[in-house]
Formats: sequence, structure tokens, C-alpha cells
Amino acid sequence: MPRTYASVDLGGTNIKAVVADEAGVIVGSQSIPTLSYEGPDKVLDRVAALVVALAQQVGHAPEALGMAVPGLVDLQHGVTKFLPNLPTQWRDVPVREHLEPHVGCPVYVLNDVRTATLGELTFGHGRAGGTMVFLALGTGIGGGVVIDGRLRLGPLGSAGELGHQTILPDGPICGCGSRGCLETLASGPAIAAEGVRLLLSGLAPRLYELTEGQPSRVTTREMAAAAAAGDENVRHAIVRAAGFLGIGVANLVVALHPDLVVLGGGVAGIGDLLFETVRQTVHQRVQVFPAGDVAIRPSLLGDGAGALGGIALAMCGGQLGQ
Ligand SMILES: [Zn+2]
Repeated sequence: MPRTYASVDLGGTNIKAVVADEAGVIVGSQSIPTLSYEGPDKVLDRVAALVVALAQQVGHAPEALGMAVPGLVDLQHGVTKFLPNLPTQWRDVPVREHLEPHVGCPVYVLNDVRTATLGELTFGHGRAGGTMVFLALGTGIGGGVVIDGRLRLGPLGSAGELGHQTILPDGPICGCGSRGCLETLASGPAIAAEGVRLLLSGLAPRLYELTEGQPSRVTTREMAAAAAAGDENVRHAIVRAAGFLGIGVANLVVALHPDLVVLGGGVAGIGDLLFETVRQTVHQRVQVFPAGDVAIRPSLLGDGAGALGGIALAMCGGQLGQ
């Protein structure tokens, strides 16, 4: 039996656990509701039970567990510092200390988007090495930066919060407290909000058909379909948001001249219209050096980046980028 590693992705709604081998081949997986209102202790008890059950199912104890959490973490001690979207915000919760006696292996804890970046680095496009920027475009916009093959964490593990670069100086207020962050302009909710406005204004007939006129059904996926079906206003809304994203990517290209920019998360599912707009914007905005060699690509791992990132975290034993 080859060595196996476990990964847990703690989300606001679900906890996903996988067990995989060293090649990143998943041999077992399971998902349970987070029930975050129960508080950290009970949630962690269920995480432990989930990992133990998966190990029994696979018939092999994991060598280590990598756990992704939505917020700030003390990586060295495996303690959560601030998970803004969970009740009590998990301040100073000793996750490693809580889990290790139950799961019987070392536990490493990292921010979820940095974990996804590590997944893309280890098992996805990043395998080619070099410098990579990863943007997770979803309800928020998270990111991660790999410099010369090594994940950049910074002293607080917060390096790579790429969704909170200022794009519009006096733009909408952001959850982080600033204004006009990329996240306020190109996240799923930001794009969908404009879709809802167009729907309710009678300016998006195809979107109206696709959603049966129900604002709650407007997502970036529906908007992409409506744009493809001929809704010019919806197309314009997507291009505008993708243009802001392109400015954000252009800023990163100027700062790092990466080999690769990877766009993941649900918003990246808009597809060609988004990617072509980002590429064009980068081409227009980066004039100071030729940036045509910077590849801008969808995530190779898709939804699996987080789970495989946890496996990569477990495999490297918290020695990130070594
Ligand atoms: Zn912000």
C-alpha cells in the first residue's frame, strides 16, 4: 500500500475531506455539512470523525493531514486567527492541537486559497515551475503567489490577497473595509448584481428567458449563456467586469512578470469571453515590457484545486515551497 495523505477543506457550508496518494490520485472522499453554528469544538470533532472514517474506508492511516480554512491562520502553530465568515470567527482556535490526537498524524493548517494555489503548483499548471499567480474568482476573490517555485506567504500568511488591490479609488465599499477593491467589481456577486439590474430593467431578454425572470436565479453562468445567446447588455456587463479583472492581472504582471496566471473559481467558468477580455486588457495595459509570453489560463484542477492543495500541504509537512 502506497503512502496516503488526507485533506480537509473547511467551508462555510460544507466540509470536504479526501484521501490521496503521493501522485495526487484521490482514493476516497466525503463531504458533510459544516453546521458552523455549533462552534469550533464540535465542528472540529466532526472533522476528526470524518478523517478517521475515510481512513478506515481506504484501509490505511494517512501520513499527515492538510487542512484549508477560509481566513487567517498561524501556520507555524496550526491555530486559526480570523475566519470572518464563520460564527465566533474562530479566533485563536488550536486546530492542530484539537485534531492530532484524534487523527493520529501531523496536522497542517493554511488559508484556503493559498492551499488551492499550492494544489495548482504541485499537481496543476504550476508543475512546470517558475512564477505563478493564482486568482480564485468566486463569492469573493482570493489569490496566491508563487515566486520561483515557492508559495509566498508573508509574515501573516496573507500575501496574495489579490482581490483587495484597489482598482477604482472611489468604487464600492468592500468587505475588507477599503473601497473599489477588485473583489467589489469582478466577484460573482458583483457581476450577478448587474445581471439582476439588467433583468429587472427589461434590458436582458435572453437572461429573462433563462432565469424565468427570477432574480435569485441570476448567476455568472446564466449571464454567460445569455450573452452567448445575444444579450448585448449582459455581454457588456461581463466585459466590463473582466476588464477590471484584466487591470488587476496587468498590475500583477508588471509587479512579477510571471510565467503563468491561473484563473479559477466559478466566475472563471464564464469562459472565453472573460479570458479573452483579460488577455486583451493585459496586452493594452502592460506597455513597459513585452508581456506576450505570460500565459493566462483556466485552472487545470478546477474545483479539485483546494482538495489537492490540502494533500500537497500534508505531503510537504508545512515546509511550503521547499
Ligand atoms: Zn477589499
